[in-house]
Amino acid sequence: MDTLYGGIEAGGTKFVCVVASGPDHILAQERFPTTNPAETISRTIRFFQPFVESQQVKSVGIAAFGPVDLDKRSKTFGYITTTPKPGWEQADLLGTIQRALKVPCGFDTDVNAAAFGEYYWIPENRDLDPLLYITVGTGIGVGGIVNGQTLHGLIHPEAGHMFIPHDRTVDPFPGVCPFHEDCLEGLASGPSMAKRWGQPAETLPDDHPGWDLEAKYIGFLISNLILNFSPKRVVLGGGVPQHAGFIPKVRKLVQMQLNGYIQSPKVMDTIDELIVPPALGSQAGVMGAIALARTAVE
Ligand SMILES: [Zn+2]
Repeated sequence: MDTLYGGIEAGGTKFVCVVASGPDHILAQERFPTTNPAETISRTIRFFQPFVESQQVKSVGIAAFGPVDLDKRSKTFGYITTTPKPGWEQADLLGTIQRALKVPCGFDTDVNAAAFGEYYWIPENRDLDPLLYITVGTGIGVGGIVNGQTLHGLIHPEAGHMFIPHDRTVDPFPGVCPFHEDCLEGLASGPSMAKRWGQPAETLPDDHPGWDLEAKYIGFLISNLILNFSPKRVVLGGGVPQHAGFIPKVRKLVQMQLNGYIQSPKVMDTIDELIVPPALGSQAGVMGAIALARTAVE
């Protein structure tokens, strides 16, 4: 029988817990809303406890919403840090789970984990390093794989809050980011679209001008990422980009914005292989957590 691992996608709105050996074999799965830390974390622990006690699961991976502390030498390693989410600021997510389950735990941001999931489980992606994973939904996040490792640093990439051109004659909307107002997340997250247009993003019709504006902003994000990291693959995940026709629109805008400067056939000719939807679909994050669990004991 395949070895089983525990995976937790600890999101700001919901937690997804799975016991699996990989994308093709999920033994158990549970999802529940993210409420306060005490309730949410104990529910997570209760889900895994029987699998750990029966020694079916020997390690767990955690893909957490952030910002988080990824510095192993820090006293607050594994904590959620500055989130505006009530009750979660300075919550010890990793430590609480590790002390209760007493198994090795891998830990990373949700977007780094999603990048790792796409890299780890999709064979062709192993040759496409650096690989970046973008999610556009409630927030905008960017994770990455460089030299086979998730990208950490001062803390971890927060490219969703990148500053991009904001032409107020075309888009007078001030933005919704509580920290920066009109950073990318402030202008292009799902909640910003909903506030600008007065209806949820997913209800905007295909020909609504909001999609062109959104594609332009996500285009700026990807163009800047290409200039900064020279990625061989950019995976565009999250709910917003999955709207019909959106990713092709973004690809064209990236070509226009870069304007022939990046002399690679992957930008000029085969951009549909450079900017892609997640091969793992909505499972990228949780399968990234399973990959983190595997590498925690390898
Ligand atoms: Zn911001």
